Amino acid sequence: MRLPEKVALISGGARGIGAAIARRFTVEGASVVIGDILVEEGQTLASELQQAGANITFIHLDVTSESSWADAVVRAIDLYGRLDILVNNAGITKRDFIENETPESWDLIFEINAKGVFLGTKAVLEEMKRHGNGAIVNMSSSYGNVASPNSAIYGASKAAVRLFTKSTAIQNASFGIRANSVHPGPVNAPLIQEFLPFPEKVRLLEEMVPMDRLGQPDEIASAVLFLASDESSFMTGSELIIDGGINAR
Ligand code: NAD
Repeated sequence: MRLPEKVALISGGARGIGAAIARRFTVEGASVVIGDILVEEGQTLASELQQAGANITFIHLDVTSESSWADAVVRAIDLYGRLDILVNNAGITKRDFIENETPESWDLIFEINAKGVFLGTKAVLEEMKRHGNGAIVNMSSSYGNVASPNSAIYGASKAAVRLFTKSTAIQNASFGIRANSVHPGPVNAPLIQEFLPFPEKVRLLEEMVPMDRLGQPDEIASAVLFLASDESSFMTGSELIIDGGINAR
């Protein structure tokens, strides 16, 4: 087991990449709280994994709300006694060219993708400092490092996550808290499943990837597991790129 006796809180864990992370963490011995606004999906996933013997609970969490984060942290500690790992995974995307975008889109994307990460981090620091140990893994994107063809606001929000992670890392290194970011390329998960009925659009996505395919949620969960576990004990402020080679171009 790679996460024995660890307690993890995963935002946006009801489906997609977050759900793959939750499954993987429970298999590796962690007790997991998944927080999401998708109540039905979250409860269904938690029940399924509980029946398989996992310690997992779903809670309603809106990452844009400071009080919602405070409730989630209290619940996690009440349920499982402590909190060792935070995965700031919740995020949204929107694709359009800059001239078609609106201030409302900017605010919404930044509210969830960037402010959500800030509020989650702020909510867990006290507890992690209390026991002198913690791992924070923030979900950025390949497009937090290089420009995407048509999602400038999303890319800017994920670039914000990248640097916020590095600041979190250096401010908290002396407290035993590590923070790293993960940068997936296009992954076959709900965020891009809108494309799946259109094979020609999927093909365009695949062609952007030197490995010529989409990633799978499990391939991202593997990287998150590594950064959340003690195996990465000398890594903080780093970024792990899992994008089939997009950033290598
Ligand atoms: P997804 O839509 O399934 O995952 C996002 C989850 O976040 C959903 O369960 C959603 O309900 C939740 N969420 C949205 N707003 C929320 C809020 N206000 N509070 C709490 N939860 C909220 O898609 P995914 O592909 O699994 O994406 C997960 C993460 O990975 C996102 O941060 C995304 O930007 C990132 N990412 C995805 C891809 C990809 O190609 N799928 C690539 C790079 C990065």
